[in-house]
Amino acid sequence: MMMAAPLTWPADRPDTGRRRFRHPANRYRHDHRTPGQRLADSVTGVFGSWRYIVIQTVVVLLWIAANILAVALRWDPYPFILLNLLFSTQAAYAAPLILLSQNRQADTDRVKAEHDYQVNQLALQYLIAWHRSTHGDDCHCVQDTEPIVEGMLITLARKL
Ligand SMILES: [Zn+2]
Repeated sequence: MMMAAPLTWPADRPDTGRRRFRHPANRYRHDHRTPGQRLADSVTGVFGSWRYIVIQTVVVLLWIAANILAVALRWDPYPFILLNLLFSTQAAYAAPLILLSQNRQADTDRVKAEHDYQVNQLALQYLIAWHRSTHGDDCHCVQDTEPIVEGMLITLARKL
């Protein structure tokens, strides 16, 4: 009898100092990024953090306070038109960057779903092969013992 090779997790690639991912979706998202994607990831990472919100709030408060209280400085007197312009410019760049990030997330989710589907198919094929080899071709033990499972399989087959 031939012994099957033991099932092992794929070996890690050589450590080149960079962080490496094993899941294909993470590899797709992180290991093969263009400079533009790298920049978009880091910018949206900063935008979506409490640190950014706190720092921005402090900067805005200082800006307003300096323009109200420090009469000699007043580079943007009330109603703070320069501050508004800066916010508009920031929003004009933030929106497309966030869309870019969302598109990348959707791509990652698609790769993840495809990978999960392939793993599930592999597990199902393995289970069917194992059942055939142990119980024979015309065994109905799954259908007989678990009518709910049978129903679920039929529903699933209809959806695919
Ligand atoms: Zn059986």
